[in-house]
Amino acid sequence: MDYQGDIIRPPSEANSIILQVTTGCSHNGCTFCGAYRDKRFGLKPWATISADIDFAARWCSRQKTLFLADGDALALEDQVLVRLLGEIRERLPWVRRVASYAGARNIDEKSDAQLARYRQLGLSRLYLGLESGHDPTLKAIAKGADSEQMISFAHRVRRAGMFLSVTCLLGIGGVRDSLAHARATAEVLNTMAPNQVAVLTLMILANTPLQRKLKAGTFQPLDQEQLFRELRTLLQGLHLERAQFQANHASNYFSLSGRLPKDQAAMLATIDRALAGTLHLKEEQQRLL
Ligand code: SF4
Repeated sequence: MDYQGDIIRPPSEANSIILQVTTGCSHNGCTFCGAYRDKRFGLKPWATISADIDFAARWCSRQKTLFLADGDALALEDQVLVRLLGEIRERLPWVRRVASYAGARNIDEKSDAQLARYRQLGLSRLYLGLESGHDPTLKAIAKGADSEQMISFAHRVRRAGMFLSVTCLLGIGGVRDSLAHARATAEVLNTMAPNQVAVLTLMILANTPLQRKLKAGTFQPLDQEQLFRELRTLLQGLHLERAQFQANHASNYFSLSGRLPKDQAAMLATIDRALAGTLHLKEEQQRLL
């Protein structure tokens, strides 16, 4: 397979065929994100993509799921995406789920009919990076959309019949906005009604605008206890009828995973153990993005 640069995928795609169809991220502007700073956004040549599909057809018949990398394959033009999904369906018929990250702007640029067509062609799961439901935080991190727009994108994805996973970022509001960020994020998630909530913990990366803010003293990061209180506020504020809650990303100090609302009380109790100092936590150097 042709992989250019570091390949990033959600934890739930650990066993998927990773087909890199674009490089980088078409937004590439979030102040905390260092994922694609070294990469220009672009579509990989069709011949390269096609050769990778051939490779997968020959060697990946045990993998039933496929993830389209990099940052936002939904940035592909409609006819390219339709062709790509058609080829995957034809040449990898055993693949039962195709997934991709989806940037807010790229959902905005697709019509409802286009989203429904992608779903029909097998694109059944999108990962939307909300990060925060708190508008001042969304603005500060240059996410490119406010909470109302994010809610509307989420509803459009759900109406198209896709599984929607929404990512939130603990600590991104800094100390000043920590609890406002947690409460607003819970409210936005309640309105979005995603199938999955995925929680990551902020790691401040070198050469990002956020690191410059940190150095300038205009961003105050949370300590562990503040992060756990933020997580508790977020989880407690969720009133989802049926959703997976995953805080098991490598960036988190401990893993939390369960179904809402069934496991909500048990997960809150785990956070309380972290706050009480009786839960085993990951060492700082073991945290990864
Ligand atoms: S949209 Fe995602 S990949 Fe792109 S800059 Fe923001 S966080 Fe990074």
